[in-house]
Amino acid sequence: MASITLKDVAHSYRGESQNPADFALKKLNLTWRDGGAYALLGPSGCGKTTLLNIISGLLIPTRGQVLFKDQDVTRLPTEQRNIAQIFQFPVIYDTMTVFENLAFPLKNRGRTSKEIEPRVIELAKMLGLEKDLYGKAQHLTADAKQKISLGRGLIRKSVNAILFDEPLTVIDPQLKWQLRSQLKFLHKKFKFTMIYVTHDQTEALTFADEVIVMYGGAIVQIGTPEALFERPEHTFVGYFIGSPGMNILPCALKGNKAMIDGIEISLNQSYTPPSTGKIELGIRPEHLRLEEPGRDGLPVKVLKIDDIGRHKIARVALNTCQLNVIMPEMTTLTGDMGTLVIDTDHANIYLDEHLVTGETL
Ligand code: ADP
Ligand code: MG
Repeated sequence: MASITLKDVAHSYRGESQNPADFALKKLNLTWRDGGAYALLGPSGCGKTTLLNIISGLLIPTRGQVLFKDQDVTRLPTEQRNIAQIFQFPVIYDTMTVFENLAFPLKNRGRTSKEIEPRVIELAKMLGLEKDLYGKAQHLTADAKQKISLGRGLIRKSVNAILFDEPLTVIDPQLKWQLRSQLKFLHKKFKFTMIYVTHDQTEALTFADEVIVMYGGAIVQIGTPEALFERPEHTFVGYFIGSPGMNILPCALKGNKAMIDGIEISLNQSYTPPSTGKIELGIRPEHLRLEEPGRDGLPVKVLKIDDIGRHKIARVALNTCQLNVIMPEMTTLTGDMGTLVIDTDHANIYLDEHLVTGETL
């Protein structure tokens, strides 16, 4: 196994170009630690599959290099990279039995039946495929077929990395949770480098030690699930992570005062107002409180309150700005007015979508 480094990698499906808009993947530099569990998270079309295919060798990047440890593999074909890749939809041999499908990657590399059999049985057990092991794969459900694909990806112990490209898309929601925990268990047990692509934040946050968030062909933040939640470095991360996402409000700054639609809010840090650019304040719904009207705080209009079980989500209007507030399940607030209290320890300031740090007062 080896670390994987992407050095100044960029990709345009139109070939080399001077037009930045042609690049599905903007220039990036990144090292994946040997044995790390990573999630690659971002909306559809942001370049996740392109990035995976560059690592596995299905694509040669327009610019830059791919290194496995110190070896330049940029032009090396997939077969020579020793990478397992699992795709969104099952890739299996219908006419083979489940056993033969699982054994294929090992058999192909000349392993003996004595080595193959226990490994196939071990994985079949883990994936819940034992009872179908000697039947043809053809008649199985989409779920079971995708489990075979997962098994084929996991069967070899000596791979450099396992790449998962939204592998649970076709899997039944209940099974999804189960398979995800199994992948996590397998990672702990075998210490494979795993890169797990998804557009689902729950999947990313539960699977990975480190999450790489992509947006528009670029990496906007790399961090632990906690860091992505607490200090989003880009407004997209704030908005994309969390349910509902971070409230992002246009504002003006003067020292430690933020002016939101004519309303002044005191912050814990002081900022030098930039001469140009869009300034926004980001605050998570979890860091806001809604109290009875007339309390200390900002008067707001309550537009609606949704009860989603674990807690309630209030939609409130601060002049023309609308915000989401997460409230405890037992809240009894009635009427259409309230007081908004902001936990300013958790307020972030963004300049042109990027986090800026102020001076602590
Ligand atoms: P994701 O996996 O995040 O949904 P992709 O990497 O598949 O994103 O795609 C990134 C961008 O590249 C998209 O705009 C997509 O339309 C474009 N793209 C992907 N594959 C091709 C291709 N084979 N030819 C041309 N454009 C492509
Ligand atoms: Mg994709």
